[in-house]
This record gives sequence, C-alpha cells and structure tokens, in this order.
Amino acid sequence: MTEDPSNSSGEPRQDAGGESRHPAGGERRRPAGGERRRPAGSVRHPAEHSSLAEPPAPPPAPPASPAPRHALSRRELLTSAARGTGLLGLGAAAGLLGGRASKAATRWQIDPNRCIQCGRCATECVLEVSAVKCVHSHGMCGYCKLCTGYFEPEPINLDEGAENQLCPTGAIKREFIEDPYYEYSINKDLCVACGKCVKGCNMFGNGSLYLQVCHDRCLNCNICAIASACPAQAFRQIPAPNPYLLRGKGAPGT
Ligand code: SF4
Ligand code: SF4
Ligand code: SF4
Repeated sequence: MTEDPSNSSGEPRQDAGGESRHPAGGERRRPAGGERRRPAGSVRHPAEHSSLAEPPAPPPAPPASPAPRHALSRRELLTSAARGTGLLGLGAAAGLLGGRASKAATRWQIDPNRCIQCGRCATECVLEVSAVKCVHSHGMCGYCKLCTGYFEPEPINLDEGAENQLCPTGAIKREFIEDPYYEYSINKDLCVACGKCVKGCNMFGNGSLYLQVCHDRCLNCNICAIASACPAQAFRQIPAPNPYLLRGKGAPGT
C-alpha cells in the first residue's frame, strides 16, 4: 500500500497520486499576417503613391542571437521576486522552471538509512517551507518517557514545557499513554524539516523519527535542489506509484 506520511497527524495516508500540471508552457502567438492594419479613414502619405519617392528604409536587422526563453523567464522571475512577490511565489516558480514533469514516472524521496540530518532539507527546498517533513514509525517507537527526539539534551523537566523541547517549532505532540509510556506525533504543518528530532532519535532511540519528501507538497522538480545539496546522497528518484521509503514494518503509525 502506498502511504502518504504527510497528513496533519504525522500518520501516513493513501497517496492520492495526482499532481497538478503547471500553467507554464503556452507559447505566445503572433497575429497572423504580420502586417499592421491601417485605421479606417486614415490618409495615405503622398510618397506612398509616388513612383519618384525614395525607397523605404530597410527594416532594422534582427538581433544576432535572441535570449533563450528560459533565461528570459528566469530574469522575469527574479525581477518579480525583487518587487516583493515573496518567496513562496519564487519557490513555486523556480520549481516550474526546474521543469516539473506532469507525467513523471518517478518521485524524489529520501533514503532514511543514508540521511545524516545535516539540516539542508530545511534550507534548500525551492518552496518557502520545505516539502520535506519528519514522519514517525509508531511501530518502531519505544514510547519512551525520556524521548531524545523530543527533549533537549538536558531538559529542566520531563514535561511539555516549550523550554524542554528540542523541536524549534513545537511540531511534536507528546501524549501520556500509561506509565511509563508516551506517544509522539508530528504536526506536519509545523514541521520545517530541521532534522533535530531525527538526530536525537537516531543517537539514543530506535530511529523511528525520520525525514520524507511529502508528495502533497513537493513540486517534483526535474532537479531537486535538496538532492543537489545533500552531502549524503540520500535523495533518489523512486517509482511514482510507491513514492515513500518507509521504516519499520508496514507504515509509520502501524
Ligand atoms: S540534505 Fe540529505 S543528509 Fe541533509 S537532512 Fe536532507 S536528506 Fe538528510
Ligand atoms: S525537530 Fe525539526 S524535523 Fe523534527 S518535527 Fe520539529 S521541525 Fe520537524
Ligand atoms: S523536488 Fe526537492 S526542491 Fe523540489 S519541491 Fe520537492 S523537495 Fe523541494
């Protein structure tokens, strides 16, 4: 079963498999003919009728090498960004420039066994907020009271106080189950893919927290900006019908 670990509870869900076709790609059409129409009722210049009139000056030569379409689009994009259209627009447009393939047979994904939590998943994505999120395999989790993916290395207290949490955005929810067990869930809307919890979990826990590209957000750029920057070669393209590399038996949360 294809799971989508990008739902709001951090649990996987059925991958919709759909993707949007980007609106770019349409060519501007020249008006047919190429001749300008004379306004009705306008008067011709006498020279146009005279056989003695000087021949018209030749049209200016076309530029030797017109700028490539993509270079022009990128300049327009940067100009637009400079005018304040915002990083989200920049990111989305950059993804489009990257050439999102609407019928791509593959999707970018992170191999969690290769990821070293370098932090670039949070900073390199073309989207303003990364398409990468932390997911949690509840089947692998130890439900630890002292979760090293949740708590700062030396927490003041083992409670949910913000000062005790490792996550900079409070994206991990901690719930008491029964003594001494607690359940941890990810709010993907808050997760920025910094990888701190993943590092903490991998150092002292079972590695049940890990990063995945969420395909309800990812633009599936032809060249993934994070993959290009990843120092561990953890990104790869995998078949679109099964676009996650899940840890543990079944799926996260099972
Ligand atoms: S860039 Fe690579 S190593 Fe760094 S957090 Fe992302 S997947 Fe892991
Ligand atoms: S610590 Fe970082 S990777 Fe983990 S849930 Fe919080 S924002 Fe996401
Ligand atoms: S392909 Fe890579 S850079 Fe593009 S949106 Fe997806 S995660 Fe971000």
